[in-house]
Amino acid sequence: MSNSELKDSTFLDGLSGEQLFRHPIGLTYRDFLVLPGYIDFNPSDVDLETRISKNIVLKRPLISSPMDTVTESAMAIAQALQGGMGFIHYNNTIDEQVAHVRKVKRYENGFITEPMTLSPRNTLKDLDDIKDRHGFSSIPITEDGTPRTKLIGIVTNRDVDFESDRTIQLGSVMTKELVTGPVGMTLKEANEKLRATKIGKLPIVDKEGRIISLVTRKDLKKNKDFPDSSKDGQKRLRVGAAVSTLAESRDRVAALYVAGVDVIIVDSAQGNSVYQIEMIKYIKKNFEGLDVIGGNVVTKDQCNSLIEAGVDGLRVGMGPGSICITQETMAVGRAQATAVFMTSLYASKYNIPVIADGGISNIGDIANALAIGASSCMMGSMFAGTSEAPGEYFYENGVRLKKYRGMASLEAMNAGGDKRYFSESQKIKVAQGVSGAVVDKGSITNFVPYLVQGLKLSFQDMGYKNTKDLHEALYSGRLRFERRSESAQLQGSVHGLYSFSNPSMRAE
Ligand code: GDP
Ligand code: 5GP
Repeated sequence: MSNSELKDSTFLDGLSGEQLFRHPIGLTYRDFLVLPGYIDFNPSDVDLETRISKNIVLKRPLISSPMDTVTESAMAIAQALQGGMGFIHYNNTIDEQVAHVRKVKRYENGFITEPMTLSPRNTLKDLDDIKDRHGFSSIPITEDGTPRTKLIGIVTNRDVDFESDRTIQLGSVMTKELVTGPVGMTLKEANEKLRATKIGKLPIVDKEGRIISLVTRKDLKKNKDFPDSSKDGQKRLRVGAAVSTLAESRDRVAALYVAGVDVIIVDSAQGNSVYQIEMIKYIKKNFEGLDVIGGNVVTKDQCNSLIEAGVDGLRVGMGPGSICITQETMAVGRAQATAVFMTSLYASKYNIPVIADGGISNIGDIANALAIGASSCMMGSMFAGTSEAPGEYFYENGVRLKKYRGMASLEAMNAGGDKRYFSESQKIKVAQGVSGAVVDKGSITNFVPYLVQGLKLSFQDMGYKNTKDLHEALYSGRLRFERRSESAQLQGSVHGLYSFSNPSMRAE
């Protein structure tokens, strides 16, 4: 390039997306940077709204992965409240997966849906066990201990504090004069009643006197509004679910559909298969209005097959996951940034959004994925280790941890998680994932707002107020990138210090 060309004001510094990814070597998020743009707005002006499939719009481009150490109902509720979404894993029975979906759909801020109940024949010891395991000790008592029968009392701390004999049955200590509210009561009305009657717990009951939900005084104090939450047309939280390409999934989808699931992911490590194509066609034909996301894919040809089959969204990634050993074991896959760019470029012609799945370990990776064409990011390790992820915390060398494992780790496969790897009928199992642990990241309630704020700052630096403008700039060649050499990567991370404390990925 000549000096006069460089001095020309129309000369564009850096590389366009197409120039960056035309490179013969596959790139990861760490191999490039976005060049800064022009700032004439505040981070609060950034709108992160996006689509994860043709008909599902979210306020935040963040999704939790369908893995058994990441997403069950607690995670899906927390994600949807924060404007993202969770996909319930299928390493369980149809009934269990459906129960998780129902819990999310029935969730109302401030109401505990399906509170834990006991029968009058349970003992104080049973109550102690619940307190130890779950941390609460106020339990509604129903005729047979399930929510299916009539509510006949409630046991709270005050009823049992002074009892030394823990074999006593709850029926003899429970409070029988109950203050209850009717189904349909708003949170405001419930709060008024708690205030007026000075009670600690308000059970909400249906016409037959069965308990539907519970409102607590403690929650009243910490009730928050979630203006960006992801909701369907009936104002219920949105939730997705994953299914395999195996035949049993037809019944699964039918049950999930009845439970109100918003979108299905057909989950397979290599999505370009006759099994997946048949499953997508089956769902599109039989379940009106249900969006289907196909995957995983990393090439244009794979996208083409699934788009022809009728998918509403694509999930992209083969081998970049933090727990994943597919590329080492199978020698098949693709570097994730190249995969995201190539598939997004192709899918954009059909107006199909791409989910960048796996290999995201910080806010910069999320921003990079969106800058190269993804509409949202799916994460496993980022959300594992939060209090909403399934499983208990444990300590190792004084560090508080939670388990996180690949769905194709031997451990998860033995528990039924190998349905995405075409290996269910095979006796010798070849692991494509590992199991391990991640550090405690606190609650999604703090962690996601931290990610969102970081992402807004990143959009500001790039000079774009929303994903639509960012993608337009990407495809017109206005968004400019630069490759990073190894030394540039070293320089871009902390160096030359004797010691330092990492701000880490935990919001306080
Ligand atoms: P308790 O008086 O010991 O039951 O505890 P608090 O009322 O002080 O706090 C209970 C906390 O646990 C609240 O934040 C509830 O939202 C939460 N929680 C979650 N599930 C349940 C449940 O099934 N029953 C009860 N009682 N609380 C629950
Ligand atoms: P992470 O966010 O932890 O980097 O990656 C999560 C993603 O890895 C999941 O959404 C899923 O696509 C993929 N994944 C989950 N379990 C396994 C596994 O055992 N092996 C492989 N190859 N990928 C996995």
